[in-house]
Amino acid sequence: MHNFILETPIEYLKGVGPQRADILKKELQIFTYGDLFFHFPFRYVDRTKIYKVREVNPLSQYVQLKGVLKDIDAAHDKKKSRLVADLKDETGTIELVWFQGVKWLKESLKEGKEYIVFGKPSVFGKKLNIVHPEISLADEEKISPAGILQPFYPSTEKLKARGLDSRGIARLMRTLLTQVSRGDVPEFLPENILQKYRLPSRYDALQQVHFPTANRELELARQRLKFEELFFIQLKLLQLKIGRQESSRGFVFNKVGDFFNRFYKEKLPFPLTGAQKKVIKEIRSDLVSGKQMNRLLQGDVGSGKTVVALSVILLALDNGMQSCFMVPTEILAQQHFQSITELTAGLSFNIALLTASVKGAERKKILAGIASGEIHLLVGTHALIEDAVQFTNLGFVVIDEQHRFGVEQRGKMWTKNHNPPHILVMTATPIPRTLAMTLYGDLDVSVIDEMPPGRKPIKTVHYDDGQRLRVFGFMKEQIMKGRQIYVVYPLIEESAKLDYKDLMDGFESISRAFPPPQFQVSIVHGRMKSADRDFEMNRFVKKETQIMVATTVIEVGVNVPNASVMVIESAERFGLSQLHQLRGRVGRGAEQSFCILMTDRKINPDARKRMNTMVETNDGFVISEVDLELRGPGDLQGTQQSGALNLKIADLARDQKILIAARSEAEKILSEDISLERAEHFTLKQYLFQQEKKKGEWGKIS
Ligand code: ADP
Ligand code: MG
Repeated sequence: MHNFILETPIEYLKGVGPQRADILKKELQIFTYGDLFFHFPFRYVDRTKIYKVREVNPLSQYVQLKGVLKDIDAAHDKKKSRLVADLKDETGTIELVWFQGVKWLKESLKEGKEYIVFGKPSVFGKKLNIVHPEISLADEEKISPAGILQPFYPSTEKLKARGLDSRGIARLMRTLLTQVSRGDVPEFLPENILQKYRLPSRYDALQQVHFPTANRELELARQRLKFEELFFIQLKLLQLKIGRQESSRGFVFNKVGDFFNRFYKEKLPFPLTGAQKKVIKEIRSDLVSGKQMNRLLQGDVGSGKTVVALSVILLALDNGMQSCFMVPTEILAQQHFQSITELTAGLSFNIALLTASVKGAERKKILAGIASGEIHLLVGTHALIEDAVQFTNLGFVVIDEQHRFGVEQRGKMWTKNHNPPHILVMTATPIPRTLAMTLYGDLDVSVIDEMPPGRKPIKTVHYDDGQRLRVFGFMKEQIMKGRQIYVVYPLIEESAKLDYKDLMDGFESISRAFPPPQFQVSIVHGRMKSADRDFEMNRFVKKETQIMVATTVIEVGVNVPNASVMVIESAERFGLSQLHQLRGRVGRGAEQSFCILMTDRKINPDARKRMNTMVETNDGFVISEVDLELRGPGDLQGTQQSGALNLKIADLARDQKILIAARSEAEKILSEDISLERAEHFTLKQYLFQQEKKKGEWGKIS
């Protein structure tokens, strides 16, 4: 294998040099020729088409226009200078605006000459314009045959400042292509796969993806690269999974004893749903298999995951082993601690709560109890993974709302016993199937797809700010019926100051509309001390207050069954999965619950689609599919932090077919040759090895 050229440091490429290399590394993680090769265009524009000014509208994507330049005018404000000019063709005039390079442009652009202009139209005031268009004299613009579909590369401000805008990167790519030949880019995929799916070779695909000669060739090239990307992820994940199943010994929980039985006979306040039973059965078969369990439990908000986890905790105890239950927030830890304590009262089941705020003697006592085995279950936040927490015999780990934890945090749980404990990862963020296959491809998956009986579906409505009085009226009605209400405000880091102001303004106007002593209003947000937050939260739990005004701190897991109305302010600013999570805070009791989405009167089409989806369905899986479609997987809550999802070209929303094909091919290969020892799999093995070296420890996903 001699792809040394692709390993050449990027600074050696003609046109790069040390300074640009530095920025390429920092901004785009491009260290070598090979990295640059895999920096793909995100869009292609057909440069053979020239639009008329009249055809351009605010929704147009990139357009190319040809016309005469008029009225070039440089304006200098105190801080900013800008250059404005008109481009006129036989159908109309459009304004061109530049904020950078004003001096140079003013000197070089010539009124009355014909230019080719290329850019993305936008609206300023009521006028259509193009900001920072590419511009060149019409008779100088020559479109080379290989440049019909012009690639657009991702770039950054810092790169642009060094001349590496999309065009600059394309220039480097052209240079790179002259240095790399077919022999430098060997094929990795088995011949039969290439033939079966009619995929071009690796070298051809890379060439086409950067400089396509035709739409069809480009499409094939992209398919090939997507397949390759997804195939190797699947190969890796499945290898992990099968390997782990074969090698890791797991504790056997074959005894069903007093804790488990008494809990079911004496304590459990309701019959389990069919889905809960099914899932417990799936888990139990893992627990007697002799292999370590690594299972993902998906179940919509309120589907009853906690009691499933608790049954396993009790089973572990019947088999002489400790458990721990890790959750992302302190409030949630307290709630779990409380509800499990209540559910197991009288079973001589010892449970402790460990969070960052447990300190001093109390902490020491808990640590000692864990080490001696006196404590059976430890509930807590990430404080649980600290080295000081040493179990005597940890057999089972539950990780709740897992999308809040990083990969490393989860991985650490493995080391808490000489044999790895069984692991159950629980999430209420419904994950589309394709995403689950990629993110958790090495985990077994169980799904609770049924809600406890007697729950009425939450009614969701969408109002705009003009209808606030009506909403207040409705809230009053509900409070008179004895219900409680959440009012949630967005809080985004980038706009935290303004967001807090909104929250406080909202709190004030609600306090005015719902005055004491008849009404009590709580407020909870991230800037409060956690003790104050808990105090307010508890007042609400105890029904001392009727309205809880909050930021999204209440998003996760909080359980107040009497709360039946969720008002979400500026709902257009939330993503779908977050809206769904928030809505899940109500609808936990027997009462009819409501979710009220408040937005601006004017919202963009995507936001409208989100609101409509929420109004139309309560089904978390449907919602997650729409979410994936609207936002793309990179934005899905929690997936950003997943090291596994660094996709360069595949798109899990659109490329499901390719993913499924890739997974099945990977499965086929591994089922015959798990360690890729056969000669025909040599290149695969080598490729995986190289990837490994590059990425470092990929991390155990659980
Ligand atoms: P989640 O899956 O969101 O973690 P929880 O475990 O918090 O859901 O359960 C939500 C509520 O439903 C709790 O109050 C719990 O006691 C109740 N619950 C769970 N299972 C059942 C069941 N089979 N029948 C009735 N209520 C149930
Ligand atoms: Mg829960």
